[in-house]
Amino acid sequence: MEYIDCHCHLAENYFYKHIKEFIQEWNEKGIKQIGAMATNGKTAKRTIELATTFPETIVAGIGRHPWGAHKTTEEELLKFEEWISKPEVKIIGEVGLDHYFIREPEKWEKQCEVFRFFLDMAEKYQKPLMIHSTGAEKEIFELLETRKLKTNVCFHWFSGDISILTKLMDLGAYFSINPAVAQSKRHQQVVQTVALDHLLTESDGTVKFRGEIGTPLLMPFVCKEIAKRKKIPFEDVVQAVQTAFEKYL
Ligand SMILES: [Zn+2]
Repeated sequence: MEYIDCHCHLAENYFYKHIKEFIQEWNEKGIKQIGAMATNGKTAKRTIELATTFPETIVAGIGRHPWGAHKTTEEELLKFEEWISKPEVKIIGEVGLDHYFIREPEKWEKQCEVFRFFLDMAEKYQKPLMIHSTGAEKEIFELLETRKLKTNVCFHWFSGDISILTKLMDLGAYFSINPAVAQSKRHQQVVQTVALDHLLTESDGTVKFRGEIGTPLLMPFVCKEIAKRKKIPFEDVVQAVQTAFEKYL
């Protein structure tokens, strides 16, 4: 079996400092590809370096995470464009809006300006987006709908309303399922609602799961959870996720 972790923060020190050993172990345990998501300039540089060193396994995603987006300068955006234009960068992410963890509405305008910049980049360079949408699912849907973007989008760890989920499905969005699916009713609903060919799997490491740092090794567990909720064979899920990831890219 070969697994995909489409969203993991490999440039974080925990992974980055021992990446060679990690990649070797993960490859041995069937992890085929990992979407490495940058969140700022420092992790962007590291992520490109990682994808260049391990081109078979690591797929680079470059973006500014919405938690820090309000601090982004014009100069940094120019740098982001330079990175995104590189052929080794395959995904624009992690980008998006967050009105749940970022409570101060005065930061939202800048957050949105930065997100709109990344939507422009997706259009210009025809690269798929990896989107963080906590508490701002409706706003993101409206932006995507108005823009009529032709690139693929993946909503990572979607936790919004099912009414928005179905609208995003109509736009052809992909959804990556996190280990939290084991206990989150909302996330279980995502699995049940979205067609198998639009589901991906993710750890979002270094975010913890059950007290331990999440890693790509959780992917068999996530596939099992999807198989259980969709009442289909485990092997079918593993195969479908691989195909979906190829199509998403
Ligand atoms: Zn993330």
